[in-house]
Amino acid sequence: MQKRQIALVTGASKGIGAAIARELAADGFHVWLNYRSDRQAAQQVAEQVETAGGECTPLPFDVADAQATATALEPLLKEQVPFVLVNNAGFARDGIMAMMSQSDWENVLAVHLNGFFNVTRLVVARMLKKRQGRIINIVSTSGESGVAGQVNYSAAKAGLIGATRSLAAEVGRRNILVNAVSPGFIATDMTEELPLERILPLIPLGRIGEPEEVSGLVGFLCSERASYITGQVFAVNGGIHI
Ligand code: NAP
Repeated sequence: MQKRQIALVTGASKGIGAAIARELAADGFHVWLNYRSDRQAAQQVAEQVETAGGECTPLPFDVADAQATATALEPLLKEQVPFVLVNNAGFARDGIMAMMSQSDWENVLAVHLNGFFNVTRLVVARMLKKRQGRIINIVSTSGESGVAGQVNYSAAKAGLIGATRSLAAEVGRRNILVNAVSPGFIATDMTEELPLERILPLIPLGRIGEPEEVSGLVGFLCSERASYITGQVFAVNGGIHI
């Protein structure tokens, strides 16, 4: 039997990352399932993947920590090179700029931007040698438009959109495709406490999205059918930003 291709998904213990892990496993990838600390949630996703006939390897490390990332990934990368990397790990620390703490600014930039750098630099170096790969960065409507209370998160996600475009330009000749997927409001832990009554009237489709409505697009971008798409930002937002 042919060996499965590897897909490394960061922040895959819950929410959008978990849906992406299930989707890519169903598409035949062996998933390297990264998470930071919620081992129980990661274990549940691993069981769902395996019950559905897929394969996955849980991989706990903090993407914002360059040393921890290298310690976890380098031994694996000596053996196998992922075909897919999905940079999804992240969180928001909302608050108005005038009151924002230094740590809320730095931690949000660290997980989204340093996290992208720490993981991608290691993986893309190996993809370049293999002359193939797909990198998908999960960004946000907040990185495309202004959102009060999210100066740190918008800056991080807009930065990641810039990095997506530049990396796509850099590695296209080696057949590595780099794209961003930009969700609007999606039902996960991250959005659990938001005031839906104020948000829903702003969304033309009148509802928030499900993680599987994001993971379906990621699955497509990792497939053969997406072989001529790179450097793009794809919104999955119910029309909230058109
Ligand atoms: P979520 O349900 O809160 O899940 C976040 C995931 O990221 C968890 O698996 C968590 O691991 C992991 N994580 C957080 N910090 C990490 C770190 N430093 N290192 C490794 N893993 C880390 O969030 P979500 O809503 O699915 O969001 C996923 C991505 O989509 C994020 O990048 C977010 O910015 C983006 N996004 C979300 C929405 C939305 O409406 N939900 C909209 C636009 C964009 P543990 O469980 O171990 O903590």
